[in-house]
Amino acid sequence: MTTYWQQLRRELPHWVEESRTVSQDGEVASYIPGLANAPKDGLCISLFGIQGEQVHAGDCKFKFTMQSISKVFSLLLALLDSGEAVVFNKVGMEPTGDDFNSILKLELVDPGKPFNPFINAGAITIASLIEGGTPEEKSMRMLEFIRELADDPTITWNEEVYQSEKDTAHRNRSLAYFLKDNGVLEADVEDTLEVYFRQCAIEVNTDHLARMALVLANGGCNPQTGRCYIPKHYVQIANSFMVTCGMYNASGEFAIQVGIPAKSGVSGGILAVIPGKMGIGVVGPSLNKKGNSVAGVHLLGALSERYDWSIF
Ligand code: GLN
Repeated sequence: MTTYWQQLRRELPHWVEESRTVSQDGEVASYIPGLANAPKDGLCISLFGIQGEQVHAGDCKFKFTMQSISKVFSLLLALLDSGEAVVFNKVGMEPTGDDFNSILKLELVDPGKPFNPFINAGAITIASLIEGGTPEEKSMRMLEFIRELADDPTITWNEEVYQSEKDTAHRNRSLAYFLKDNGVLEADVEDTLEVYFRQCAIEVNTDHLARMALVLANGGCNPQTGRCYIPKHYVQIANSFMVTCGMYNASGEFAIQVGIPAKSGVSGGILAVIPGKMGIGVVGPSLNKKGNSVAGVHLLGALSERYDWSIF
């Protein structure tokens, strides 16, 4: 292990404990019990390097659901299934500056195409492009894709979170019916939502996120096995979207303060990529007003400054 990693291993607990204190400034998502019960001051980080280095710190016992982080991988699977032309005929490439579940801009652009694949409207549209004869088959393909990238065949859905997402998804249902009405969503609404709720409910830990991020840091290939899953160009698309839209409408601020591709989820997870160097997984359930992990963003900011991670 290089000195860089030794230093990271030595210093990491300090940065985690320092960042944990800011958890008090946020709130855990409360719209479903499966999220509301997460530990508010929980914080864990995993960093996996391309030479096989691994460092972890924090309290890493609790699992969490992927939520919006899954949008990176549904986009990649849709690209693999249908190609760029089909995908970008349905969703745009621009940030919105609005909340992730906003309906506002769906009325502005003819014919109501979602601005990007990481807002809920875009991700629901993307879910409809995943190949499979039934919602179950599509969801299974999505789960298998995550299992492969995270190198863990035991990863599965949190059934309680899935069910309550489904029971409470009035806003997502509205978005989907709106998309259906304006012709962007061609598939059945409830079938499509089923795929979306399932992908949000895939349960992981920070090691899983770090391993998936590592594949993205390494041009689509697992650096240990040499196995390639995603063409480099699609990885570039995913990383670009993570920079411009990955942290919702705080992506600009995150680019300045941290400066690496990242995607957050409402469970407090963050997947981050340092291209050519490492994959990172973080979880801290307390969220700021924009829906990003308070402690997670703080920790990544501190580490980026300390270790000069910004790609810009
Ligand atoms: N399940 C959440 C939703 O659809 C996912 C969004 C998020 O993680 N921000 O609202």
